[in-house]
Amino acid sequence: MFEFKFTEEQNMLRDMVRDFTNNEIKPIAAKIDEEAKIPRELITKMAELGFLGISFPEEYGGGGFGEVGYCIMQEEIARGCMSTATFIGAHQSIGTNAIFNGASEEQKKKFIPPLASGEKIAAFGLTEAQAGSDSFHLKTKADLVGDEWVINGEKLWITNGGIADFVSLFARTEKGISLFAVDTNVPGFKVGPPEKKMGIKEVTNPLSFENVHIPKENLIGTDGRGFIYAMKTLDAGRLGLGAASGVFLKNCLSFLQSMQKNAYNLIIQYRTFRQYSLCLQRWQ
Ligand SMILES: Cc1cc2nc3c(=O)[nH]c(=O)nc-3n(C[C@H](O)[C@H](O)[C@H](O)COP(=O)(O)OP(=O)(O)OC[C@H]3O[C@@H](n4cnc5c(N)ncnc54)[C@H](O)[C@@H]3O)c2cc1C
Repeated sequence: MFEFKFTEEQNMLRDMVRDFTNNEIKPIAAKIDEEAKIPRELITKMAELGFLGISFPEEYGGGGFGEVGYCIMQEEIARGCMSTATFIGAHQSIGTNAIFNGASEEQKKKFIPPLASGEKIAAFGLTEAQAGSDSFHLKTKADLVGDEWVINGEKLWITNGGIADFVSLFARTEKGISLFAVDTNVPGFKVGPPEKKMGIKEVTNPLSFENVHIPKENLIGTDGRGFIYAMKTLDAGRLGLGAASGVFLKNCLSFLQSMQKNAYNLIIQYRTFRQYSLCLQRWQ
């Protein structure tokens, strides 16, 4: 029979993240949702503790905890704030992981450490207005001109778009869909207004690329294999999202149960009060 047990290290990770969530995230969770903003100070604290690269191997500056460790961390963060868990997911599990999945050894050593340490915040740029579920038909273009790629196009619904220093960008070349590492401090890169959302309030924006020039070597992995890297990345992204959403649902259920208990208590109190007042009337 398959027996699944967490290691001592994984249990220690859970305890550490749980304490951090209780002390640093829960008290400001309502404010995060009201302002639709994860405070910079919170991002810095999480980066210092290694939360922003927990899944990646230590040789690239990560925590070496793999996907299981990442899911443990996301469960605990989501217990306190789903917006913060989603911010981490977009940065780590899709934004940085896309590079990890596609990059050569040399590219991993160059691009992963500043992302895993949280020195740079990442976003994952795949979706477009006409290419959501059907992302294979994306239209953003990358043309090789001399020693540079020139990128033109628009992306939609990009989580962390407004705060990202780095985008894992999917664009079409002559060979098919390819993945590019794009720093956001380049001329021609623009961020549109944040989407207004009902819940999960980390920032989500449209992005535009107008004649954005990036070095030739920022094409990640093999030209034309970007769609495979994207699908592999989204598979892993769903794991963490599942872990966070499971806890989120559990929280909703216990909230409803406590409401139900309160309502039940109110009914009992009302009935007792009515019995007393009827007795009182009869006695009078
Ligand atoms: C809050 C939020 C954050 C996001 N963050 C990111 C991000 O960081 N990066 C990124 O690249 N994207 C992001 N996205 C985009 C997300 O991945 C897309 O919304 C998703 O791929 C669905 O695309 P769509 O919204 O265009 O819906 P559509 O593709 O238009 O689908 C609408 C509905 O039609 C159904 N449907 C579609 N095609 C078919 C078919 N052939 N047969 C039957 N049913 C079909 C779908 O299942 C769905 O129910 C985000 C979206 C949201 C809402």
